[in-house]
Amino acid sequence: MTTLQYYRPTRAIINLEAIKQNVRNLKNFLQPDVQIIAVVKANGYGHGDIKVAEAAIEAGATMLAVATPEEALHLRQSFANIDILILGYSPISFAKVAAEENITLTVYSSDWVKQVKVDSNHPLKVHIKVDTGMGRIGVTSADELLDLYEEIEKVDSLLVDGLFTHFATADEEDDSYFMKQVNKFKKFVEALPNRPRIIHAANTATMLVKDPTLQFDAVRFGISMYGLAPSQYVKTILPFTIEQAFSLESELVAVKLLHKGESVGYGATYTAKESMYVGTIPIGYADGMIRKLSGQEVLIDGKRVPIIGRICMDQCMIALPTAYNIGEKVTLIGKQDEEVVTIDEWAEKAETINYEIPCIITARVPRIYSK
Ligand SMILES: *Cc1c(COP(=O)(O)O)cnc(C)c1O
Repeated sequence: MTTLQYYRPTRAIINLEAIKQNVRNLKNFLQPDVQIIAVVKANGYGHGDIKVAEAAIEAGATMLAVATPEEALHLRQSFANIDILILGYSPISFAKVAAEENITLTVYSSDWVKQVKVDSNHPLKVHIKVDTGMGRIGVTSADELLDLYEEIEKVDSLLVDGLFTHFATADEEDDSYFMKQVNKFKKFVEALPNRPRIIHAANTATMLVKDPTLQFDAVRFGISMYGLAPSQYVKTILPFTIEQAFSLESELVAVKLLHKGESVGYGATYTAKESMYVGTIPIGYADGMIRKLSGQEVLIDGKRVPIIGRICMDQCMIALPTAYNIGEKVTLIGKQDEEVVTIDEWAEKAETINYEIPCIITARVPRIYSK
């Protein structure tokens, strides 16, 4: 067996100790009997689902949540016993496999339940999703909820294990829409004839700042497990510190002197005003470093320098203060000496949210784990 070797010096470094510490800090913040559901959908928000799940479980998470059947099956290969919940849609064709693999599904349609066939040797656990204002998936009225509940009760091999909802504005300062959703959810809970094992409503923003009393039986911990705040508003009032786990590094693979009037990259959009050194790094938009990030600063030798010209598919160029050697380390996200480039800074430059940044760093960039 050969271990996979990476030749291109571009890599994401994932600090698992930061993830563990973020989960431990959360655990200390929660009521003692409240479960932590580690949300590791989308390959652990781009950090690597298996390694993140391992770290989260070690630090106290007792359940994993993903978005799709494929993500759940991938986790099940590494974790034989832990509860895995699929938060999104599962087709009826997946129900049998879900039951065999002890994967918990989200349900919100009586028709789905009427059509589903599960083998009674392998009961299927489900969480009912109620839509209290997200407008995405979930039953929208108490009647619909009771209908669904009755349909599930008719099927021997189906088990209502949980009930949950999701908030649309938990990361915003204004409370009004959030409060409407909370009140609706509480009515849904009361409408059920039996209380399921796990009721959960809170994502990161809800439990950390919006309403820490809404912990119910479990909380769904996503973005801050990775050390990122759900919004700029939440960032200013976090109840404990979180540490960003994701760094992105590369190296100079070419260094050249650009004379006054010479240009760099497609479209020759950047022209040297006077002689300057330019470095090339092997990362481009096919790695998820989208062209909108042109102008974003990176770190070299502890200093900030900008990406110049258009970002290519596989490479981009940076302005250098001096002629560094090939192989000099370049930090695109993370720390060098006193300087730091955060994911939030990238998000601002790309005019998006921090959630999107690690997710769009493509699989071509290997994830390397530091302890
Ligand atoms: C992604 C997701 C979460 C996690 O949200 P964070 O803001 O990352 O904590 C929780 N619940 C549902 C239903 C989700 O889809």
